[in-house]
Amino acid sequence: MDRKRIIIAIDGHSSCGKSTFAKAIAARLGYIFIDTGAMYRAVTLYALENSIIENGIVDEERIKSSLGDIDIDFRFNPQRGASDIYVNGDLAEGKIRTIEVSNCVSAVSSIAEVRSKLVAIQQQMGRKGGVVMDGRDIGTVVFPDAEIKIYMTADPMVRAERRFKELTVKGDSVTLEEVYDNVVSRDKADMTRAISPLRKADDAVVLDNSYMSVEEQMAWFDELYKSVVEA
Ligand code: C5P
Repeated sequence: MDRKRIIIAIDGHSSCGKSTFAKAIAARLGYIFIDTGAMYRAVTLYALENSIIENGIVDEERIKSSLGDIDIDFRFNPQRGASDIYVNGDLAEGKIRTIEVSNCVSAVSSIAEVRSKLVAIQQQMGRKGGVVMDGRDIGTVVFPDAEIKIYMTADPMVRAERRFKELTVKGDSVTLEEVYDNVVSRDKADMTRAISPLRKADDAVVLDNSYMSVEEQMAWFDELYKSVVEA
């Protein structure tokens, strides 16, 4: 018997491994993985490249009037086993994860018009189910009826160390302190913004993965999945 293809919403703090976890779940279930943070990063990258952000200051009016010119799409990359993000037809995947983009993305994501554009695309992508979507407002705003909601967190220093490793492996010259400051300040900005702040949905299950391997997280997920689909 075919299992119903459900929506799995994963929200939580910055750099706590949401995407790695979401990607592994999607691969296991044959679902599509959608990284909504990549979409906010893509808009931020566009703003940086078009001088809509200068010296860390976002020109809100210009970003709002440019939204119609920003076309975002995902294309599956079999080598990564996940989709790469494209902005106006150009591959942006490698460029959206820099510390420069990380430092400006929370300001961009707090703009109502940016959120409504991206939320509409996310709802369209997930409408048929069979998706694992990660972000900050998936279980609260994008898919409040998602069958599984997970709220992820981890110790901020553990998160900073993980992100620092990722960035330095890629050759980015950042310090651990810079990465830690970014993680902590993004959490604060994302949790205190006026529109769709990061918060745990009432019916979300908390996963603190500070000291858990990916395998342990998957075992935890399997139990949760079984309890939902076999209920
Ligand atoms: O998930 P990631 O850390 O790549 O997200 C980057 C930023 O995008 C977050 O810090 C947050 O400001 C914003 N974001 C959001 N809503 C989402 C996903 C990400 O506001 N659903």
